[in-house]
Amino acid sequence: MTMPDAQALARRWVREEILELGAYAVPAFDGQVKLDAMENPHGWSSEMVAAWLEHLQKLALNRYPDPRAEALTAGLRRFFNVPDAAQLMLGNGSDELIQLLCLALNRPGAGMLVPEPSFSMYAMISRFAGMRCVGVPLKADDFDLDLPAMLQAIEREQPALVMLARPNNPTGNSFSREALEAVLDAAPGLVVVDEAYAPFAGESVMAEIERRPNLLVMATVSKIGLAGLRLGLLAGSAGWIEQLDKLRLPYNINSLSQASAAFALQHEAELRERIARVCHDRDVLHQALLSRDDLQVWPSEANFLLVRLVNADATAAHAGLRARGVLVKNLDGSHPALTGCLRITVGSPEENQLLLEALGGVLEACGQQKLR
Ligand SMILES: *Cc1c(COP(=O)(O)O)cnc(C)c1O
Repeated sequence: MTMPDAQALARRWVREEILELGAYAVPAFDGQVKLDAMENPHGWSSEMVAAWLEHLQKLALNRYPDPRAEALTAGLRRFFNVPDAAQLMLGNGSDELIQLLCLALNRPGAGMLVPEPSFSMYAMISRFAGMRCVGVPLKADDFDLDLPAMLQAIEREQPALVMLARPNNPTGNSFSREALEAVLDAAPGLVVVDEAYAPFAGESVMAEIERRPNLLVMATVSKIGLAGLRLGLLAGSAGWIEQLDKLRLPYNINSLSQASAAFALQHEAELRERIARVCHDRDVLHQALLSRDDLQVWPSEANFLLVRLVNADATAAHAGLRARGVLVKNLDGSHPALTGCLRITVGSPEENQLLLEALGGVLEACGQQKLR
């Protein structure tokens, strides 16, 4: 069978809404400064690497992983301060957990409500699952929840699921606690607070699980230095987790990830120290970016900064940075509130310096082009 035949066959049988989707583009990049995906820039010491490899030697790869991931679960509970009364479900990245939430809650007509702009995977995964997704714009000035608009949308849509990233990606701010509580009070269904960046903000609603029957808290190890492991967690009342867990494929967390994450979590002080370094370097980078009058920079409680290029075309600047070996995320065109915006992950001090130099060069080149 030739390739065009396969294409025609696929077009005939694959769901309409999947045919319409563009693929999630993860750009290939072999430049030196990768600041597009909120990875932690700091590797491990050679002593840590040696101890980790020794830890891995105990694994029996001919066996399936521990289906309950017990050693790992204990470490995650400690690190993320999960209340004893709460249950945990682990996912192959929190992306998988979002997918399971959609699969579980997508009764006919059910909807997901998300503030916009937020993490793009919410809308994308809801589409994969065939679940309706409704966006509610954030406040234009500070990107906080627009509470009247949220409450109105909750009343109108009766969403099965509200997804709130706190701190939010890509805006970097934490939605105010008051607005969050009001959403929790009003939502008829489930509210998931996605705390992917909470370790950088130092604030969490994890303890609220015990008081709020409609709250689940999601977390991930991706942004704290373990993106390669693909490991996320969902914490909440047994009533929810028992149902969601039925959808989880057995052994979804492989042995290498379980053992590696459990090992890393035994070195909590090192993990916390690297988070603190990123927070410090974020504030240094923030100040440096603020000192330029051709940029607008928002405050961030996460490990990235949102900037708007005031005089230059963001798509051209993004390409210019890339040509100079620096990869950031171009948000221009992704949402009206993000016109002219780039999202820059905080790197090591050296990487941040290279970014600043490259950005200076690119913006100068853009300015000269405008003058001509
Ligand atoms: C990066 C990110 C995630 C993805 O986490 P994984 O565990 O790597 O799948 C989830 N939520 C938000 C808001 C993120 O920015």
